[in-house]
Amino acid sequence: MGFLMDVIRTNAVDDHPFLSLSHCINRKQKHMTCSACMEICPRGVYDRTQKTPPKWNECQNCGLCVTACPSRCIAPSPSNAKRHLMMAEKTGRVVLSCGRAGNGAGHEEACLALLPWEFLAYLALGGRLILNLKPCRECPHEECLDTLEEQLYQLKCFLGEDAYAAHVQACFDDLPAEQEEGVSRREFLRAMAHGGQKATALVVNDLVGEAVDAMIYRRLLASRVHELARKNRDFSCRMALPWISDACFGCGICALLCPNGAMEIGGEEDGKRPVYITPYKCTGCGVCEAVCRDGCIEEIGMMNLPHMNRLVLSRVASRSCAGCGRAISPSGQETLCIACRQKKKK
Ligand code: SF4
Ligand code: SF4
Ligand code: SF4
Repeated sequence: MGFLMDVIRTNAVDDHPFLSLSHCINRKQKHMTCSACMEICPRGVYDRTQKTPPKWNECQNCGLCVTACPSRCIAPSPSNAKRHLMMAEKTGRVVLSCGRAGNGAGHEEACLALLPWEFLAYLALGGRLILNLKPCRECPHEECLDTLEEQLYQLKCFLGEDAYAAHVQACFDDLPAEQEEGVSRREFLRAMAHGGQKATALVVNDLVGEAVDAMIYRRLLASRVHELARKNRDFSCRMALPWISDACFGCGICALLCPNGAMEIGGEEDGKRPVYITPYKCTGCGVCEAVCRDGCIEEIGMMNLPHMNRLVLSRVASRSCAGCGRAISPSGQETLCIACRQKKKK
């Protein structure tokens, strides 16, 4: 697959994304499978069987797998993360262009599809995000265009129509003159040379300790949303989260198999159990829906949220097993869960 060769820069061999396999959708369950990274990678870095580690020496650090992974378990390479975190420190108007534009207007990426929607949302909520999509009209790389389209769709869903119109401007023609200031190439290079490392280290240390993790863009977005929600009580955003039906009694299989640990089931109190979700961790992957034995997750649907931190998704009717305390259905006659009944029989 040589489809990206002419737009992607080649970087040092040791500069590549990092895969956190423990968060991969395929890791803990077999009800649904994913092969997004294998399909998008132009260099065949990822093994289809996932039995051997990625061949990083083949990687050209294009970063497409980071955007394509629906579970956000691939961290950006250190060089890409640093470049993006430099941008993250800006507020106000940010102009993003495909490197093919070559006119030095705003910040240029080899391809705009390398920026996950969470990062675009972070930039947009800092002021105004101007996307120069003019070169995309002639782009021959369908994989890049599809990925970009998906990111823009997710961005629009997250912000909602009104906020999208207020914060995002997609330009298909030459950028209007007054918008060409943005983050100039000169300003960006100067920041890289003089203040970049210090500034980047501040953001990284604040948010993720010393390591760049695969959730870095989501953590950034959650911090901006938290800040906005604190200042404006009417603030809201939208995310695709599991919709729990009344049949759920909190058995916890979804929480156990969620790749990102986004769901938690609380202890029973007065016949109810809280189901918690941490929206910034939930990627809407649908594993919980696929693994629930009783079909209690109706769908992964959009929800209006006041913030992206942990909140109660539902309080479900539940009883506790008299033997081990595990959740059992409130409608049954049994007082013990299946495991305790079998133990008792033996
Ligand atoms: S960054 Fe990801 S998609 Fe690009 S070559 Fe490396 S492994 Fe493949
Ligand atoms: S894209 Fe992410 S979730 Fe899908 S197979 Fe690759 S690592 Fe796993
Ligand atoms: S809560 Fe469900 S949809 Fe969200 S990340 Fe976990 S398994 Fe995926």
